[in-house]
Amino acid sequence: MTIAEIVIIGGGVIGASVAWHLASEGMTDVVLLERESLGAGSTGRSVGGIRHQFSSAVNIKLSLASVAKFRRFTRETGAPAHFVWCGYLFLLDNEADWTQFQRNVALQQELGVPGVERLTQDDVKRLVPQLEVDDLLGATLCTHDGFGDPYSICQGYAQAARRLGVRVRQTVEVTGIDVRGGRVVGVQTTDGPIGCRCVVNCAGPWAAEIGRLAGVDLPIVPLKRQVYVTDLFNGLAQDAPMTIDFGPSFYFRREGKGIVFGMTNKDQPPGFDLRLDPGWLDTVIEQALRRVPALADARVMRGWAGLYDTTPDANPILGAVPGLDGFLVAAGFSGHGFMHSPATGEVVAEMALGRSPTLDVSELGLDRFNQGARREHNVI
Ligand SMILES: Cc1cc2nc3c(=O)[nH]c(=O)nc-3n(C[C@H](O)[C@H](O)[C@H](O)COP(=O)(O)OP(=O)(O)OC[C@H]3O[C@@H](n4cnc5c(N)ncnc54)[C@H](O)[C@@H]3O)c2cc1C
Repeated sequence: MTIAEIVIIGGGVIGASVAWHLASEGMTDVVLLERESLGAGSTGRSVGGIRHQFSSAVNIKLSLASVAKFRRFTRETGAPAHFVWCGYLFLLDNEADWTQFQRNVALQQELGVPGVERLTQDDVKRLVPQLEVDDLLGATLCTHDGFGDPYSICQGYAQAARRLGVRVRQTVEVTGIDVRGGRVVGVQTTDGPIGCRCVVNCAGPWAAEIGRLAGVDLPIVPLKRQVYVTDLFNGLAQDAPMTIDFGPSFYFRREGKGIVFGMTNKDQPPGFDLRLDPGWLDTVIEQALRRVPALADARVMRGWAGLYDTTPDANPILGAVPGLDGFLVAAGFSGHGFMHSPATGEVVAEMALGRSPTLDVSELGLDRFNQGARREHNVI
């Protein structure tokens, strides 16, 4: 039988980051199991946004730590990475959101986020002249936000982990988790059993299914999100910020010579279906043209759907499960798993090694759902 100290389930950007952070700390007796291919889940379907603009200190700290790590990613892993630090612009059109976002900016500045500020209608119009701004109460901008490529970051972490000795096994599915006397002792896979001391559940939208294999109830559900890309579009500056019309949750940014855009369907029922909904594109375009009339000249080239792994407060579950030794969870990231993957990898590796994490993420433990966790302003 195969034996390993630590088994990581899921070869998305989170599992790959955990694997590399373990290996870089000298823990290479690790197996990373992916039932399809690396990045085949949400990671390969992500929009890749990276922002500091959150309403809670823990998420802002995860962003600060992650951005610092993204900036030294190539130096540390030897893998290529491409980032565009174009900024994130949030447009606010109602009192409640505007009040909340002004509070958020104050908290972000207090915690040391660089380049974050409030903008007036006139500022917004100067920054992105194509926007309709008459209904806006204000906006917030962070010039140190931007986007990257989740698929290549996932591959980079996995390859660097493999070079250090981690066993990365694709097309191997975990079918069972062996628990004895209140602790995990191994996993069953389509390629045979593996005995281990610790399992890390990084299965993204499938994390609740992995939880069930261990007898653990994780409040994580898959929610479909649909994304579209246009052909060549010259009607927007190449360095325009990623823009989020927060009320309707419509967003767009530059993607090469085209535009990538999408909107959250707030009535989306949970499920694993990945088909594009007929009619949804028309709804998104209606909203898009209200905010950016110039987009009428853009031609939609293709679209795809991916899954958010969503918890009741749209924040991840990080850490141990009370009552089950040797089982760690790093899932439920909603729309911010890519941007938080570097710091998450570090923190979860520290937990798996039995150390207390350098970043205090105790408020993201599973037990918060017994204590009335509060919903955060989370988007895309
Ligand atoms: C449309 C869309 C846009 C997004 N935009 C952003 C964004 O702008 N910024 C951002 O930060 N985040 C964004 N996200 C979220 C982000 O992509 C995810 O949070 C992140 O990719 C999650 O990574 P993961 O490794 O946890 O999950 P995944 O990438 O889904 O990886 C989980 C892996 O587990 C594997 N697996 C499942 N079950 C098993 C099993 N039994 N055995 C073995 N393997 C198994 C799956 O095959 C999968 O590859 C977006 C997501 C979507 C869908």
